Amino acid sequence: MKKLLFLLIFLLLVISPSQALAEIKVPILIYHSIDEFHGHGSKELYVTPENFEKQMTYLKNKGYTLLTFERWKDISRVKKPIFITFDDGYKNNLNAFAIFKRLKSEQFQPTGTLFVISDFVGRSNRLSKKELKQMADTGFFSVQSHTATHPDLTKTNNIEYELKTSKEKIEKMTGKPVIALAYPYGSFNKKVVEVTKKYYQFGLTTIPEVYVKKGEENQNYLLPRIYVKYSTTIEEFIKSLGTGIILSKCSK
Ligand SMILES: [Zn+2]
Repeated sequence: MKKLLFLLIFLLLVISPSQALAEIKVPILIYHSIDEFHGHGSKELYVTPENFEKQMTYLKNKGYTLLTFERWKDISRVKKPIFITFDDGYKNNLNAFAIFKRLKSEQFQPTGTLFVISDFVGRSNRLSKKELKQMADTGFFSVQSHTATHPDLTKTNNIEYELKTSKEKIEKMTGKPVIALAYPYGSFNKKVVEVTKKYYQFGLTTIPEVYVKKGEENQNYLLPRIYVKYSTTIEEFIKSLGTGIILSKCSK
């Protein structure tokens, strides 16, 4: 009888759900401008190069693996997966590029995703086609879509243009597939998700949570992202990797 009890306990331990479904938590961070704030626009949409470098250095020292969406399947294979994303395609994202190059080592390969607005590419404060191509070619960045003109997708009459044409234009710029879409203002509804599914493998929101695989339908089109702001301290940054507490909305 005692033997049977031991066997039962042993079996329960071996097949316990917490072990069988070891939870993978993946923070997806969202940035906009990587620059000093000079009084233009919303301050919280900036992160200084100094703070950005501190944050990336923390990830490097703690053994995080920076991924882009082409490597989504690797989230269950690599150590401490994390995604770094930049919305709106600002020219000052070149500062992030310089920091990535500086931090690169044999163990640490920094990569990030630029969500660009296809029809804004080349404006004076945005990255140019040439810069995007260069950034993509180095392997430090994956260039993905943030639509063609940055509308609220739940209100636009041009959803096919915003989703399909922006994808085609960006693919032409970089010569690489566009598989992910960041919804402007984090705004989406059922219809937006349905159209996104036609052209993309991933849809990014601004729901402030760490990604945890739930196996729900459309989960890859409702990916949460944690906002990193001007005022985010390194302590808050570290905390947010586990909880995703820093809430805000994406804007131009
Ligand atoms: Zn945006």
